[in-house]
Amino acid sequence: MPELTNINYIKTLMNQYHFQTSKSLGQNFLINPSVCPKIAEFGHAETGFGILEIGTGIGVLTKELAKRADKVVALELDEKLFPILKETLSEFLNVKIIHADALTYDLHQLIQEEFQGLQVAVCANLPYYITSPLIMKLLEEKLPLKTITVMVQKEAGQRLCAPVGSRESGAVTVSVAYYGKAVKLFDVSRGSFFPAPNVDSSVIQIECYAEIPWRVQNEKLFFQIIKTGFSQRRKQLAGVLAGNFSIPKSDIQEIFQKAEISPSVRIEALTMPQLVELSNSFHQYLFL
Ligand code: SAH
Repeated sequence: MPELTNINYIKTLMNQYHFQTSKSLGQNFLINPSVCPKIAEFGHAETGFGILEIGTGIGVLTKELAKRADKVVALELDEKLFPILKETLSEFLNVKIIHADALTYDLHQLIQEEFQGLQVAVCANLPYYITSPLIMKLLEEKLPLKTITVMVQKEAGQRLCAPVGSRESGAVTVSVAYYGKAVKLFDVSRGSFFPAPNVDSSVIQIECYAEIPWRVQNEKLFFQIIKTGFSQRRKQLAGVLAGNFSIPKSDIQEIFQKAEISPSVRIEALTMPQLVELSNSFHQYLFL
């Protein structure tokens, strides 16, 4: 069988199975042969691991994962890819492909049923239209994941991996930093895909905390503060929060003072420990 990064072979397969790529499903298949082995190796595709993949395409990454890991379970939304996958992955007995939308699938149950006795990691060349909601789903559901290694649009990667407390940070930066440590692994040019998208990409990795190290008293409130604060990131945080939570000015001053944070600060300047302190100070004011 020719390599799945061979563009002529991809076109032959597509003709044979009357398959056309869909823009709305984010279908850009990897054709640069050096990328998938690298994702697999960085992403813990190795003995003792079960890998969850999101979006198989014609199976180019799936194959590299299956060569190395004990087991691969992949979710793919496009039913039209299944006859192709049956051919391209026929030699692998440790791969299971499920026809499902990754955004709504019960991943706790999947992990429990499919990966007994294995450590679990996520590897994917993501469909970019679901990047943020999917990463947030993986993190918020507190799945027992060691790492999440994903291809994302370059700008999304910069935001995901920005230091908390920097101008490049956003609500998603803080949310990811709450659950783990995100780093960029390497860039991938648009020419590495078929069809070529009109953006460049990066592969990033989130190393998930086995136990969340931040002592947040009220997670819901913490994320509400982050969301509200970043929705008006250029304004002074105290004013933004006073308005949103309907808290009198003098009380807001006190809440900030207790957290040892200046009320005139912008949210993008605060570090993770400061955001934790602030949210706990809010919690004490609102609920205790
Ligand atoms: N991993 C392959 C394909 C990447 S393209 C490669 O690198 O070549 C993204 C894939 O995600 C496509 O196959 C697309 O059909 C699939 N996809 C899109 N939305 C999805 C969703 N909500 N759930 C699962 N898969 C999805």
